[in-house]
Amino acid sequence: MIKINNLHKSYKKNKVLKGLNLTFDHKGILALLGPNGSGKTTLLKCILGLIIPDEGQILFQGKNIKSEFKYRTEIGYLPQIAQFPENLTGNELIDLMRNIKPRTNRAEELIKLFNLENELDKKMGNLSGGNKQKINIVIAMMSDDPFLILDEPSTGLDPLSIRKLKALLTEEKNRGKMIIVTTHIMDLAEDLADKVLFMLDGKIRYNGGMMELLDQEEEDSLENAIANLLENKKKV
Ligand code: ADP
Repeated sequence: MIKINNLHKSYKKNKVLKGLNLTFDHKGILALLGPNGSGKTTLLKCILGLIIPDEGQILFQGKNIKSEFKYRTEIGYLPQIAQFPENLTGNELIDLMRNIKPRTNRAEELIKLFNLENELDKKMGNLSGGNKQKINIVIAMMSDDPFLILDEPSTGLDPLSIRKLKALLTEEKNRGKMIIVTTHIMDLAEDLADKVLFMLDGKIRYNGGMMELLDQEEEDSLENAIANLLENKKKV
């Protein structure tokens, strides 16, 4: 369980997180949604300990992450922009990560799923955007962590790979993982997620079930429901 109390973060005068209170405690897929600049990545980086908040607390399994760094080995993270060395090959990178994380056992399976066998001897810098992203997904998911944080996982992927990603995440959800996904593709969020956290201007605008959101907004698509939240209007 991840519990967040009164989280604030500013970059100079730009207040990005404005007192968030949240509990992530469900096994399943939560879609973290919101317009560009609403603070999603900042929130995820705070959870991962990559950004220190100005105020507030984050508890992971009851312990304050400030004093407990080991929790990170339980989270698989796919950053929005992965910063791996471009001169390493996919194989070298995967080997490197195998040595860093203790429970690496799914790399082969994921390489096969995304048909990456012939791409792994190429330098990361020479790969297509889509194949680079697939290797980043392999790295994020190969250690079979109970928690997954995926920031825009479908970036650059072709439709078949997106279908495979969806099936993979659904399978992981059914294996009892807690998964947080950000995406700007509403169809993907709607297909995958059972819960929605919608952020607007550094605050939480909606936090609840996908179906409940559609019911609340009297819409039959997530895209329309989110558009309503953005317009701050409800049907009468
Ligand atoms: P989102 O993921 O929802 O697009 P971000 O958390 O990336 O939002 O960004 C929220 C705001 O914080 C934006 O205005 C962005 O410009 C700003 N921001 C993000 N990272 C930094 C940084 N390292 N330094 C200064 N401003 C930043």
